Amino acid sequence: MDTGVIVVGAGPTGLMLACELALAGVPTRVVERRIEPQRDSRALSLHPRSVELMDQRGLLDRFLPLGRKVTGWHFGGLPTQLDFAALGARHGYALFLAQARTEAILAERAGELGVEISRGHEVRAVRQDADGVEVEVRGPDDVAQTLRAGYVVGCDGGRSVVRAAAGIGFPGTDETLTGMLGDFAVVDARPGELETARERGVLSVPLEGGSTRFVLLDPELLRVSSREPVTLEEFRAALVRRAGSDCGVGEPRWLSRFGNATRLADRYRAGRVLLAGDAAHIHFPAAGQGLNTGLQDAMNLGWKLAATVNGWAPPGLLDTYEAERRPIGRALIENTEIQTLLFELPLMEQYRRPATALRTLLDELLGMEEVNRRLAGQVSALGTVYPPTTPDADPLVGHRIPDADLPRGRLYPLLKKATFLLLTRPDTPAPPTGLPHLTTLTALHPALPDVTEILIRPDGHTAWATRTTATKKRTEERAGALRGWVGVNV
Ligand SMILES: Cc1cc2nc3c(=O)[nH]c(=O)nc-3n(C[C@H](O)[C@H](O)[C@H](O)COP(=O)(O)OP(=O)(O)OC[C@H]3O[C@@H](n4cnc5c(N)ncnc54)[C@H](O)[C@@H]3O)c2cc1C
Repeated sequence: MDTGVIVVGAGPTGLMLACELALAGVPTRVVERRIEPQRDSRALSLHPRSVELMDQRGLLDRFLPLGRKVTGWHFGGLPTQLDFAALGARHGYALFLAQARTEAILAERAGELGVEISRGHEVRAVRQDADGVEVEVRGPDDVAQTLRAGYVVGCDGGRSVVRAAAGIGFPGTDETLTGMLGDFAVVDARPGELETARERGVLSVPLEGGSTRFVLLDPELLRVSSREPVTLEEFRAALVRRAGSDCGVGEPRWLSRFGNATRLADRYRAGRVLLAGDAAHIHFPAAGQGLNTGLQDAMNLGWKLAATVNGWAPPGLLDTYEAERRPIGRALIENTEIQTLLFELPLMEQYRRPATALRTLLDELLGMEEVNRRLAGQVSALGTVYPPTTPDADPLVGHRIPDADLPRGRLYPLLKKATFLLLTRPDTPAPPTGLPHLTTLTALHPALPDVTEILIRPDGHTAWATRTTATKKRTEERAGALRGWVGVNV
C-alpha cells in the first residue's frame, strides 16, 4: 500500500492543502509545472473566513502586516457595499493582499513543515489502482518520471489534467463575456477622474507599491475571447468609453482578459483522486471568491485526508468532503452568475432600463440587515454551514465556531495543530486523554452559555454540541460523537 499524498499545483489551494496534510504528519509532495512562482496576481483579497483560518493556524501575523483591512465589499458592483463588520466576527474584514503574497507565505509555511515542492514538474497522466496512484511527470530537463502515492489531489486549476485523467466530468457553460484588468505603476489621473470612473462602474483598486488596478467590462469588447491578449491602446480606449477619460494610465505592468466560463466538477472524488479549488469549480471572478473558496476546500479536505492516510478516520469521513464542499461550489457558481447578469444586462441596450431598475431595487435591499447577513455571510464565507450528520443534531452543528476569549487565552490558537477540540464543563466525567488528534479543555464558550459541551473539528466547524446538563446523557452523546468523528471508542 502506498503512503503519502501528491498535490498537483502550487497555487493557493495546493499550498494550503499541503500545509494541512504536513501538519498532520502526512508525507506530502507538491508538483508544480511553473519553474517560478507566478508574479502577477489575479486575486487581491483574503475574505473574512480565510482570515479566520489563517488565525486558527497561527499564520495571521505573517499576513496582516502585508495587507490592508477593508470591512466593505461589493456585490455585483452595486453602490451599497456588503458590510462584513456587521457579521459580528473578530475578523470582520477582508484583507487586501496580492495572490502572489498569499502563495509566498503558504509556500514558506509548507517548507517549514517539510513539504517538498517540485517546481518545473508538469503532470501528464494519472492512473490509480487498488493500492495507490501513479503520476507521470515531465521534469525541468524534459525528463519523464513516474511518482506514486496513496492519494493524489488535483489543485491544478480550471484546466485540471488530474480531473480529466480521473474521468471526472466538468459540466457547465462556456465563456459568453469577458472583462479586462490592467495594473499600472503610474496613474496620473486629474481630480475627480477616478471617482467618475467608479461611478460609471470601472473598478480601481490601489495595489502594493503605489500601483493601481483597473477592472472593467466594455460593451464593445464584451465578446472578445479571453485568449486574446489585451493591448494598451485597447485598454485606454475602453477606459475612455467607460470612464470618460483614460485616467492618466502610464505603461502597464500587466494587462489581462478574464471570462465567465462556469463549471462545477460532477464529483470531487474518484477513488484515490480528489479535486479542490479551481480544478473543481470555475466562474466569473465576481466579488473575489475563487481563491478563498479554494483555501476553504483545502481546509475541509486536509484533516479528513490526513485522518484517512493516518488510519484513524471513521468510516465515510473522506466522503463528507464532497458532501460538504460541492454544495458550496454550486452556491458560489450561482452567486457569480447572478452578479454577471447584474454587470452585463445594463450594458445591453434592450435591457438597460429594467436592468437599471433591478439594480436600484437590489441596492436598496442590500441596505437591509437580513439581506446583508445572507449575502455578506456567503461572500465572506462566515455564513458557511455544513449539513448535520444526524437528524436530532444541535443547531450549532456544521456552523463555524467564532473565536472567543477563554479564561487562559483565545480559542482560535487552540486549533493551531489542527486537532479536534473538546470544550467541556468541569462536572463532566473526564474525557479521553492521550489521543494525538483530540485536545480537551475544561471551558465553556462565552458566546454560547447554554451549550454544555462542544466538539470542534480541526477546520473550526462544530462536529457536535449538547445543551443537556444531565451528566449521564451528555457522556453517552459525547461517546457517540467521538466514535463518529474522532474514530475512538470510549
Ligand atoms: C481577474 C481575476 C481576478 C480574481 N480575483 C479574485 C479575488 O479577488 N479573490 C479571490 O478569492 N479569487 C479571485 N480570483 C480567482 C482566483 O485567482 C482563483 O480562484 C485561484 O487562483 C484558484 O487557486 P487554485 O490554487 O485552485 O488554482 P490556480 O491558482 O489556477 O493554481 C493551479 C496551479 O496548478 C499548476 N498546474 C496546472 N496544471 C498543472 C500540471 N499539469 N502539472 C503541474 N502543475 C500544474 C498551475 O501552474 C498553477 O500554479 C480571480 C481570478 C481572476 C481571473
